[in-house]
Amino acid sequence: MTTDEIKQSVSMREVVEMYGYHPNRAGFISCPFHHGDRTPSMKIYPKDYHCHACSANGDIFSFVMGMDNCDFKTAFSILGGTYEHSKTKFANQIRKDKLLRQREDERKKEQFKADFKKEIIITWNLVKAAINGFEPYSEDWCYAINQEPWLIGLWEHVYINDMKVNEIDVLRKCREIRRRILTLR
Ligand SMILES: [Zn+2]
Repeated sequence: MTTDEIKQSVSMREVVEMYGYHPNRAGFISCPFHHGDRTPSMKIYPKDYHCHACSANGDIFSFVMGMDNCDFKTAFSILGGTYEHSKTKFANQIRKDKLLRQREDERKKEQFKADFKKEIIITWNLVKAAINGFEPYSEDWCYAINQEPWLIGLWEHVYINDMKVNEIDVLRKCREIRRRILTLR
């Protein structure tokens, strides 16, 4: 709850009653802030209080601060204030979520990189196997051997020169090569 929310939900009367004071018919209590107040001189209004003898005055928060000899923060939490706390918690949660998302994105990127490399290696190995396995100069053998320069070029481009490629196109082509070789077999 915020300061305003607490003020909306807790009346001055409820707060003084919390400390054992019961306003008389005229709405006065014996002032807790000066000694010997035999005839109650502190008037309790809906939102605040005022002592006609010692001039002590304030709202629910200052009453709690005076009674418990504490700072505003403590009075605030005594009266059910959680706003600052939950706000911080909320901000921390957002930061945490963001960090987790970043880490997850990072992980996915790494995973994609690894999968991408694996696809190329698998394709290349299949091409090599086809070159060794098919009858030299047969149509199938020619197809396989014609794929090797592309794979070598791709490898140099990506893993030696560290340059970008259209990964989707590369993956599509790798799958196409594998499919053709596997159906030729
Ligand atoms: Zn007083």
